[in-house]
Amino acid sequence: MSERFNLAVYCGANMGNDPLFATRARELGTLCAQRGIGVVYGGGQNGLMGTVAGAALNAGGKVYGVVTHQLVGMEGVYPGQTTIDIVDTMHERKALMIDKADAFVAMPGGPGTLEEFFEVFSWQFLEIHSKPVALLNVNGYWDKLIEAMEYMSTTGLLKPSYLERLIVAQTPEELLEKLGR
Ligand code: AMP
Repeated sequence: MSERFNLAVYCGANMGNDPLFATRARELGTLCAQRGIGVVYGGGQNGLMGTVAGAALNAGGKVYGVVTHQLVGMEGVYPGQTTIDIVDTMHERKALMIDKADAFVAMPGGPGTLEEFFEVFSWQFLEIHSKPVALLNVNGYWDKLIEAMEYMSTTGLLKPSYLERLIVAQTPEELLEKLGR
């Protein structure tokens, strides 16, 4: 597959306390590099975000960071990225990441990750974009979220056909397979 494909990775600015999070973050970054998939992410040095970026860059991959001026000071910028866009607001940051990406995945993360995930997940329904959206469910991290969305669906607040579009993968390998990469 020769055309460029970029995956936006949303994940924690912290490491979390399950070592499998970092293991899968490194695997995802490395696999993306090996398969010629560019990583679009929040540009930071810290946590699982920095881990994905570092693994991709170490394996010779392309990494496209998008960060705000404010976060450069707070979260740092991973050195050696292919490109780094520094924008004014979080809204611009998310919009540029959406624009640059061909698919989206949320790895384990906190409120920032959830916010980014729900924007791209819900915008699919509004037909603002038609790009695949996925959860990388490392060690069942997203089980409760998936359960909550199933409950939304059974109570009639989330169309089952919308939930069916969500890709759920347990490993980076499975994720890329489901994305046809
Ligand atoms: P977290 O998942 O909370 O560790 O955050 C992961 C990334 O999401 C970090 O780069 C944060 O800067 C970013 N973030 C935090 N809050 C928001 C928000 N409200 N909207 C978009 N991104 C956010």
